Amino acid sequence: MSTVDTAALPVLAKALRLPAIARCCESLATTAETEGWTCSRFLQALLDEELRCRADRRVLRLISQAQLPAGKTLAGFDYTAIPGLNRRQIEALASGTDWLENGHNLLFFGPSGTGKTHLAAGLAFALAQASISVRYTRTTDLVQHLQQAKSDCKLPQALNRLDRFACLILDDIGYAQRTTAETGVLFELIAHRYEQRSLIVTSNHPFGEWDQIFGDQAMTIAAIDRLVHHCTIFELNTDSYRRKAALEDLQTTTS
Ligand code: ADP
Ligand code: MG
Repeated sequence: MSTVDTAALPVLAKALRLPAIARCCESLATTAETEGWTCSRFLQALLDEELRCRADRRVLRLISQAQLPAGKTLAGFDYTAIPGLNRRQIEALASGTDWLENGHNLLFFGPSGTGKTHLAAGLAFALAQASISVRYTRTTDLVQHLQQAKSDCKLPQALNRLDRFACLILDDIGYAQRTTAETGVLFELIAHRYEQRSLIVTSNHPFGEWDQIFGDQAMTIAAIDRLVHHCTIFELNTDSYRRKAALEDLQTTTS
């Protein structure tokens, strides 16, 4: 029987781009020998470890690509602050991913400071942890990016690149879409993702005011139609959490 150079195993694993196996193969080989594992068991333990580490690395990559605002997780969200918000519904959306399959959208409406960005980012963080590719954007930034792509005659490519995100957040739709070109690319994005890829949209403005976002009424109706065809709407009708927190702080310091 030929002898095995255990020290060579990490080098071989690295050459094959199997970093987790490279890290654990020597210690696993020792365990396998001491405990009399079969060859298959040893091989399975090695492959399991590589797969587990790959999944962990993928999640870290997805979280970093998502560009989420820091610290906004569902774990840190106080559901009791929003009357009528169904915690279980949000948690089901965060853990099940069926809704993403047909480009179902989530729309969060409510005044400023009521937790729309926090909820959208918290959901996206949970999805990334479940290995789903997501991306947070402030609508104004994304519109600028798409407008630039359009003036470079590269809008289709820019829209296609966003397809790799199963879920795209358009935070604060309604701010500062001024020119026809800006509203045009926003509409093209919505039409492009329709029934294919999901959007999470947050807005301080009810639909009734969306003609200010899209400029003309026909485009507004067409955009809303596509967004709401498959969607769940959350109305956060409450006071600003920011204002409540600030008032509470004030009361504690003055009492
Ligand atoms: P909006 O996007 O509706 O303007 P944000 O999500 O930015 O509001 O919320 C404003 C601030 O208040 C953020 O710091 C957010 O984390 C916090 N906040 C809002 N609602 C809640 C909540 N229900 N539980 C915990 N923090 C909240
Ligand atoms: Mg916000």
